[in-house]
Amino acid sequence: MVEGKEQQIWVPESKNPRVVVVGAGFAGISFIQKLKNKPFQLVLLDKNNYHQFQPLLYQVATSGLEPDSITFPVRKLFKGQKNFVFRVAEVERIDTNAKKVYTNVGSLHFDYLVLATGSDTNFYGLEEVQKNSIGLKSITDSLNIRSLMLQNLEKAALSGNEAERASLTSIVIVGGGPAGVETAGAMAEFSKFVLPADYPDLKGELMKVYLIEAAPKLLGAMSEKSSEDTLRSLKAMGVEVMLNTGVKSYDGHTVDLGDGKEIKTQTLIWTAGVAGVFPSGLERSISAPGRRLKVNEYSQVKGYGYIFAIGDVGGMLSDQYPHGHPMVAPAAIQQGVLLAENLVRKEEGKQLKPFKYNDKGSLATIGRRRAVADFGKMHYKGFFAWVLWSTVHLLSIIGFRNKLIVGINWLISYLTHDKGNRLIIRRYSKS
Ligand SMILES: Cc1cc2nc3c(=O)[nH]c(=O)nc-3n(C[C@H](O)[C@H](O)[C@H](O)COP(=O)(O)OP(=O)(O)OC[C@H]3O[C@@H](n4cnc5c(N)ncnc54)[C@H](O)[C@@H]3O)c2cc1C
Repeated sequence: MVEGKEQQIWVPESKNPRVVVVGAGFAGISFIQKLKNKPFQLVLLDKNNYHQFQPLLYQVATSGLEPDSITFPVRKLFKGQKNFVFRVAEVERIDTNAKKVYTNVGSLHFDYLVLATGSDTNFYGLEEVQKNSIGLKSITDSLNIRSLMLQNLEKAALSGNEAERASLTSIVIVGGGPAGVETAGAMAEFSKFVLPADYPDLKGELMKVYLIEAAPKLLGAMSEKSSEDTLRSLKAMGVEVMLNTGVKSYDGHTVDLGDGKEIKTQTLIWTAGVAGVFPSGLERSISAPGRRLKVNEYSQVKGYGYIFAIGDVGGMLSDQYPHGHPMVAPAAIQQGVLLAENLVRKEEGKQLKPFKYNDKGSLATIGRRRAVADFGKMHYKGFFAWVLWSTVHLLSIIGFRNKLIVGINWLISYLTHDKGNRLIIRRYSKS
């Protein structure tokens, strides 16, 4: 936006303080819902007109779910909330002195600013990897992975060259956290059940799935038992798991693992890390690690009493969480809810309440009917953990229609091993 010719985003007049919220993720949404009927003007800005349910992105990427079933229109979500205004806008810069945000469609003044912009894929400066691989952070990423995988299978069906076929169909996933583990499990099932049915002329041993992790164990944030169970299950499903292995480079055809080790593949999915993402103007407040904005126990960005950061982008360091809270949905939701309560308290001149994370446990699924779950010292695995995982996710998806569609898809897939969304709707090419 060129200053001097400044275009302003129009929003209705209001006597109440204006709270500009950036980001319709878990944190932004829970914050706004909690302030329904409270005396604020809540203006939500997001670059997309939908909320996306990131925990199931891998199922869209592997043809298990359609994209519409894990996204929800923002306007529909807040239908009838009178103190709410939504604008599709990408916030590019914050002017902290003028209390204004500058976006790709105009500027807007705020009394309070709530940054709930989440995080983005972290390639740790590996430029070649970033250029040639795909992250898993958005619906667009999921659809790109789905298209690339299916396009490459079709190319492999045209090729009589065994080495070319292997490179086209092999899938390398980097990062042994929940996203990498879940993607690897779903890809292995695709390879085992869908590939032989759809491509009977391609040899079964094609579409090898590799999972690469730099640490000595998978699911580093979960219990020892969970990581061991996960490793065993993935191996049983045919996934080649490579621990203590770092990716040095990837040129679109060869993954360089150092020491002369390499894998030939034309599909590399990068889930190895995330970093906070936010508009420019607050660089002084970045905290290590994870490139998050340093906030105090009330989610106030260091140095600014009227700017807050919640969810993945807020780095709230404490003795218990010296690196900030885990970048997961429950932490984002709890921070959104408490900030809403605190903003009411602030307006009423009352003492703010400090944030205390209520860790309800961790879950990860490994394919169609296996999962691991840690609740405090309790550990569960197998079918029971998978039922828990399915229930928690189904309850967390926004919208009755979405819950129903996802539930039906899972039931069909459970009974038939099928993944029904094997569609190349728009072709993907790496730029
Ligand atoms: C593949 C994957 C699997 C996951 N699995 C789990 C899981 O099983 N369980 C779990 O608890 N957590 C999981 N997570 C993590 C969880 O999704 C995040 O912690 C959570 O989404 C964070 O919520 P948030 O509101 O901070 O950010 P987000 O949900 O990322 O929302 C950020 C929003 O901000 C918008 N935005 C960003 N920048 C701008 C800008 N400049 N202008 C306008 N809008 C902007 C984005 O469009 C987006 O809508 C997973 C994440 C991924 C990627």
